[in-house]
Amino acid sequence: MEVRCSICGRPETVEKWSEAHERLRQSGGPYVCDACQRRVQRDALQSSRTPRPL
Ligand SMILES: [Zn+2]
Repeated sequence: MEVRCSICGRPETVEKWSEAHERLRQSGGPYVCDACQRRVQRDALQSSRTPRPL
């Protein structure tokens, strides 16, 4: 199964038995690759620590 990362647009092959496919199925949302997922998590941590500029 070919999916495309909704953030960087990189196409990736996700096997039906893989952890990523299971995660995708459960979330039902758009696919986000590992690299972007890590970046999003890191950004979320940082934005919760530092006040957002208005
Ligand atoms: Zn990505």
